[in-house]
Amino acid sequence: MTDAAELATRRPVPADLPETLRHYVDGAFVESADGATFDVLDPVTNETYLRAAAGKQADVDAAVTAARHAFTEGPWPRMLARERSRVLHRIADIVESRDARLAQLESFDSGLPITQALGQARRAAENFRFFADLVVAQADDTYKVPGRQLNYVNRKPIGVAGLITPWNTPFMLESWKLAPAIATGNTVVLKPAEFTPLSASLWAGIFEEAGLPRGVFNLVNGIGEEAGDALVRHPGVPLISFTGESSTGQTIFANAAPHLKGLSMELGGKSPAVVFADADLDAAIDATIFGVFSLNGERCTAGSRILVERPVYDEFVERYAAQARRVRVGFPHDPATEVGALVHPEHFAKVMGYIEIGRTEGRLVAGGGRPEGFESGNFVAPTVFADVRPEARIFQEEIFGPVVAITPFDTESEALELANGVRYGLAAYVWTNDLGRAHNFSQAVEAGMVWLNSNNVRDLRTPFGGVKASGLGHEGGYRSIDFYTDQQAVHVTLGTVHNPTFGKDDAGGR
Ligand code: NAD
Repeated sequence: MTDAAELATRRPVPADLPETLRHYVDGAFVESADGATFDVLDPVTNETYLRAAAGKQADVDAAVTAARHAFTEGPWPRMLARERSRVLHRIADIVESRDARLAQLESFDSGLPITQALGQARRAAENFRFFADLVVAQADDTYKVPGRQLNYVNRKPIGVAGLITPWNTPFMLESWKLAPAIATGNTVVLKPAEFTPLSASLWAGIFEEAGLPRGVFNLVNGIGEEAGDALVRHPGVPLISFTGESSTGQTIFANAAPHLKGLSMELGGKSPAVVFADADLDAAIDATIFGVFSLNGERCTAGSRILVERPVYDEFVERYAAQARRVRVGFPHDPATEVGALVHPEHFAKVMGYIEIGRTEGRLVAGGGRPEGFESGNFVAPTVFADVRPEARIFQEEIFGPVVAITPFDTESEALELANGVRYGLAAYVWTNDLGRAHNFSQAVEAGMVWLNSNNVRDLRTPFGGVKASGLGHEGGYRSIDFYTDQQAVHVTLGTVHNPTFGKDDAGGR
């Protein structure tokens, strides 16, 4: 029997864990104006291990004021791109040099397996390096009309960017917004997810050490409906980059509307992995196992619906289920662990609820509850349902855990209908060796991103984002630069001034 106390003895606790987290405003750590805090739980024991300052309107006001001041008076927006780039590279160096510690804290706070948390820490560094390089290589449009006009784009940072992030891979997703926002000369207020605030608290020290000027980065912890909402409604914040659930995205859209803010929305997903009979089945099985069980299944681009062509369906299901049963669930700190603990008991209850629903909607072929030996903590065995009908809730709704639905299809058009038959459209994975079908299917599928005969391997230059309920706007590469900057068009007369003349005719005007 494993109760919380027993679990706690079976795994190490990182040294020097803080007991409280504060906000970071204008270069200093501060308590909430009203002194309020919220509890942060450790996902292995579900016991409170940390209290974080619970920000509200007054705290967001202070952070926006600091960020605004750094934007209007500070050096950051006026520095050469090369100078800002140097700071970003130093940030990347520091993150890389601390990847092990970052991964340790992230894994403890979020329940992500340590090896995967380490990969995410390195990706965070890479995000800074990428945007450091991109801003120095940035070119803007110039158009000449010979002898008449020169037209050019004056690209400018916008101001205070509000960044609101979710709890899955928190540090990496924060870097995904922080790097382009500051690389382009904006100042920021970050509101990290309340389930996982620990790694976000490290940014302040990293940025200070790298030489980021005071007030450029500000952090307000807190509950979404309080701190997040105050940021969304703040008139001094002209743009919000949000990653999270589609329903939260809808709320933020509505609340930002009166202020006509720039919005970037990276939302939920229920992505299909489509396996045709001619595919390399070994590769497809490995990839689709990783695609839904990596990061505990708490992954926006998870291939959580697998559509398999009938001739290989039975073989696929049997082999898939057998491999899923071998996926190793364990303590997040253990390098051998492939699936760790889900982030929070509320999320665990949601995922377990879907597993119960799944029992009535499909044929359970692997998992179906807690793994053996983990009677407490947020541990879920990799769970596979076969023969799932498209109207099933486990086919339609984002579960965001280690649960997958497998559905057979007979024709390419049926596969496309199934793939597109949900409200989401984030990613799609297609497995086939037929070149024409591969491209035709990829182009027809309603997804912001498609991987062909590939796992989710990203090139940072490509657009990232979804269609339908999965998001609005794309970030990634220069699209992030576009989101965080204004492109002002400047038109210059070169030759004779082109003036249609009004009011010069003596006969007119009577
Ligand atoms: P969530 O929507 O509950 O919370 C995300 C953030 O929004 C948190 O910081 C939260 O505090 C804040 N928030 C909540 N209500 C708010 C409000 N009314 N106003 C302002 N802020 C508010 O999402 P989550 O549960 O933290 O994350 C999981 C979701 O994120 C999944 O749906 C997943 O697919 C999605 N996600 C999408 C991507 C992507 O790039 N498309 C990437 C990662 C996660």
